[in-house]
Amino acid sequence: MFDKRKPKLTTTAGAPIADNQNSITAGPHGPVLLQDYQLLEKLAHQNRERIPERPVHAKGWGAHGTLTITANMAQYTKAKALQKGASTPLIARFSTVAGELGAADAERDVRGFALKIYTEEGNWDMVGNNTPVFFVRDPYKFPDFIHTQKRHPKTNVRSPTAMWDFWSLSPESLHQVTILMSDRGLPLSSMHMNGYGSHTYSLINAKNERFWVKFHFKTRQGHKHLTNAEAATVVGHSRESYQEALYGAIEQGNFPQWEVQIQIMPELDAEKTPYNPFDLTKVWPHADYPPITIGTLELNRNVDNYFCEIEMLAFAPSNVVPGISFSPDKMLQARVFSYADAHRYRLGTHYESLPVNAPKCPVHNYHKDGAMNFIGQRSGATDAYYEPNSMNGAVETPAYAEPPLKISGDAARYPQKDGAGQSVDDFTQPRALFNLFDKEQKQRLFDNIAAAMTGVPEHIVERQCVLFDKVAPEYGEGVRLAVVKARQ
Ligand code: NDP
Repeated sequence: MFDKRKPKLTTTAGAPIADNQNSITAGPHGPVLLQDYQLLEKLAHQNRERIPERPVHAKGWGAHGTLTITANMAQYTKAKALQKGASTPLIARFSTVAGELGAADAERDVRGFALKIYTEEGNWDMVGNNTPVFFVRDPYKFPDFIHTQKRHPKTNVRSPTAMWDFWSLSPESLHQVTILMSDRGLPLSSMHMNGYGSHTYSLINAKNERFWVKFHFKTRQGHKHLTNAEAATVVGHSRESYQEALYGAIEQGNFPQWEVQIQIMPELDAEKTPYNPFDLTKVWPHADYPPITIGTLELNRNVDNYFCEIEMLAFAPSNVVPGISFSPDKMLQARVFSYADAHRYRLGTHYESLPVNAPKCPVHNYHKDGAMNFIGQRSGATDAYYEPNSMNGAVETPAYAEPPLKISGDAARYPQKDGAGQSVDDFTQPRALFNLFDKEQKQRLFDNIAAAMTGVPEHIVERQCVLFDKVAPEYGEGVRLAVVKARQ
């Protein structure tokens, strides 16, 4: 109804709309006239309201916040956002991995823990998980692994057989499988879990010295988890329990916080550790590289529009800033390519111009046209649309050159080795984790695995139990007993 105090309804071209209730028809009973452009526009927009969902990490929740640094970091990095006293705006997105957009939040799965930190020297994306390790160490195996987590092509339901078939043939997955099936595999909400950068990254200081680094975000809300039975009750009441919890906490002014920690390894130590420090299936034991507290991550503002700020939020580990860089981690190297590639497909060539993805600092480059280029030429000078030029367009800054990454060796498809060329050890670190669990935690681990193995053929169950035996005989035996009990 007309109300002069309210904004005037218009077409997308800005023309006023006189009637938003009745389509134009030839007589009161129809048919509709093709000239009713407002009707056609509404229908056409509805048809285009969805964009492709992420193949992984489709279901997510997030909020704006701040990264505050309290420690002196100058000896390790020149990154401005990591200097003592720096407070940098960011947006966070948490997610499950396997479920689609409509999946329930309270499902057993790894959680994504991703931050886009809007530093004055460009966006720094920390695209981690709530686990310090991952299922595979070589990106060559990643698409196959994800296929096992998604729907079976014939049945169109998820297949425990595929999951355990792959895992039992990939012993490097044992560490992450143990975390996933333990209490931490089903957090109460995204506020009650840690985040981990997971990969090894570089920090580079003003003297251009490189340090290897792991990032950790430790929850200050306490670790809280759901059992499978509790999760079933939660999902029975709400499929959106994480969204409700995070949004509700922030609306009430209960801003969730995480303590930010790093582990630092001098560059040359990487040649000495008994484990490969760039292997994504491994942690750096705290005793070797103790965590150092460097600041606080706080989430304190809900988004105004979920679609624009969370669904179109595009993280890429390729987004690093001066003072922070990559490592030889094969998985990281692949993600540096694949995340930006996913966004170009999903959102379009110029996805980094979308407000939530756009850096808060000046951007200058010579990329040109393409779908949705609504910024135009960004070289800093109208006539400079190529480089080099004499038209005062943006130029490179050699002072930002990184120290060389020291790499030696012949190009080949190497089976992964641990540090110092030893054959790979997939069992010691899962064992260290298993040994942290008390009796009840171990029993819940066995029961969760048995529940997840429902319908899996006996030979695959046994192949997996043989791997658990190698972690600890108690582990394999516990799972075997739990499987028998679950099948009775
Ligand atoms: P520590 O005993 O020094 O560290 C153990 C860490 O394990 C804790 O700090 C905690 O990490 C985490 N942890 C504690 N209880 C649980 C649990 N129930 N489920 C999952 N994680 C738990 O030993 P190490 O550093 O030698 O690590 C031993 C094992 O702990 C590793 O093999 C790994 O599986 C696991 N772990 C190690 C981490 C690391 O960076 N070293 C990080 C996380 C897990 P947090 O403080 O991050 O909560």
